[in-house]
Amino acid sequence: MARIFCVANQKGGVGKTTTCVNLAAALARRKQRVLLVDLDPQGNATGGSGIDKRGLERSVYHLLVGMADLAAVRVASPSGKFDVLPANRDLAGAEVEMVELEGREKRLKKALAGVADDYDFVLIDCPPSLSLLTLNGLCSAHGVIIPMQCEYYALEGLSDLVNTIKKVHANLNRDLKIIGLLRVMFDPRMTLQQQVSAQLEDHFGDKVFKAVVPRNVRLAEAPSHGMPGVVYDPAAKGSQAYLDFAEEMIERVRTL
Ligand code: ADP
Ligand code: MG
Repeated sequence: MARIFCVANQKGGVGKTTTCVNLAAALARRKQRVLLVDLDPQGNATGGSGIDKRGLERSVYHLLVGMADLAAVRVASPSGKFDVLPANRDLAGAEVEMVELEGREKRLKKALAGVADDYDFVLIDCPPSLSLLTLNGLCSAHGVIIPMQCEYYALEGLSDLVNTIKKVHANLNRDLKIIGLLRVMFDPRMTLQQQVSAQLEDHFGDKVFKAVVPRNVRLAEAPSHGMPGVVYDPAAKGSQAYLDFAEEMIERVRTL
């Protein structure tokens, strides 16, 4: 049965999408069957998987509001050997339209139930907010992967997210747990980053993944070629870190 994970952090630009796309491609290289769900109206995970988000006939929006079923929305990433439920700006409308619909927090969960046996991993790329879309992600998932930069304010932002996860756990999804914190865009030359990284390890212990993703321009370049970094340049330091991270996730899932 598929293990479902949200990649979430309510801050923008912290590496959620990069993590989601590269983890999907890295898991696929490890022979895992992966479905990536783009829950962000920016559609960056869709584009980064090599899918033209402007040309979509159907997207996650249609799935969430009940206008299409999953099979009609799903597409294969041409570059990454995984499947995608793509998104574009249409999805911004779902936020408003879903409010009126029955079971509004659990519409994605319901849609994913039908494909649980088709995948080993489902990865959900959440938007940078604690919105109804993110709530749909959190209600669908077994766990949350939190990418974060080791900056001064990182810990402060984390407490809001941790509180939201606790509330969802208490009220909507008893399965939900924090799987781990992933340090991304890491620059070991910066003393502050080393300090925050050490603080994270003190605070969260083995909830901090061992893999650390360095700041690496190849990861930033890859989306403009419509490819995950691990496909565009597998030898790059950043790609190697995501390949290590995939190993760690496969290991961690065994102990869940
Ligand atoms: P989010 O989804 O949280 O908004 P993104 O994954 O889109 O964040 O990352 C924000 C920006 O940082 C993007 O331009 C992305 O290419 C870049 N980026 C992400 N991770 C790295 C990294 N490890 N090294 C260099 N650039 C990165
Ligand atoms: Mg994003």
